[in-house]
Amino acid sequence: LRASFSVIQKETGFVNGLITVLHDITEQQKIEMERREFVANVSHELRTPLTTMRSYLEALSDGAWKDENIAPSFLNVTQTETERMIRLVNDLLNLSKMDSRDYKLNKELVEFNMFFNRIIDRFEMSKSQDVQFIRYIPETTYFVDIDTDKLTQVIDNIISNALKYSPDGGNIRFGFTVQENMLKVMVSDDGMGIPKENLSRIFDRFYRVDRARSRAMGGTGLGLAIAKEMIAAHGGKIWAESELGEGTTIFFTLPFELDELDEVGDWE
Ligand code: ADP
Repeated sequence: LRASFSVIQKETGFVNGLITVLHDITEQQKIEMERREFVANVSHELRTPLTTMRSYLEALSDGAWKDENIAPSFLNVTQTETERMIRLVNDLLNLSKMDSRDYKLNKELVEFNMFFNRIIDRFEMSKSQDVQFIRYIPETTYFVDIDTDKLTQVIDNIISNALKYSPDGGNIRFGFTVQENMLKVMVSDDGMGIPKENLSRIFDRFYRVDRARSRAMGGTGLGLAIAKEMIAAHGGKIWAESELGEGTTIFFTLPFELDELDEVGDWE
């Protein structure tokens, strides 16, 4: 804690007041440190693909463009890296919009069962891995008042991670239950898992358990940080449970609306 004093002095020279301000330096220092770390991370994340691209472009302009055997793969690298940077910048813009708090959620009332099933269908249809999808979706329909684009992005991120870390022949389980006026949604995989001490940190910006591996898979390290902001904006929470070598489960909660029938009363 630091105190700073300002003397309030009249033109006549008489002192008629004293302002004492107590600063919580540790809090200020923490914010400043996080800001610096964030800028360093962003710079680093952008520099890596840029330097890679530079060397491949140099090789191409030094003559590799004439070699039919290597030119396509060199161009492919520069394309992959460009796509990664676009993803990163989009993620950063997303986060900065959420930070500025001048964004609006575009909410609409949707049936969560159908909404969730459709996202799972899309992944099930396009997946190339040998992974089984198992659904535990209740028969009762539940309505949620959500920004469907944002929630889709959250669920997309969680499912892509589950797929990324799933072994061949593994299962991904999807489900939700009702807990204390909230829907509790889960996506669970049989993947490599996350060490206990890193569990809470995976929602931090740029935090990855294995940086090289995440990069190799095209990750930006921002997916779960964005998910956390978006779920919080909807009044929910997000967390992970994991057993190393056995799998990971991501949970999040969402407030749900009682559907019209329930509001009118019990019809049975
Ligand atoms: P990334 O772009 O690296 O996937 P995320 O924010 O989506 O960034 O996730 C952060 C980190 O959390 C990942 O790098 C990974 O280490 C860990 N992680 C997330 N989901 C899983 C999962 N299902 N199984 C194992 N590790 C995971």
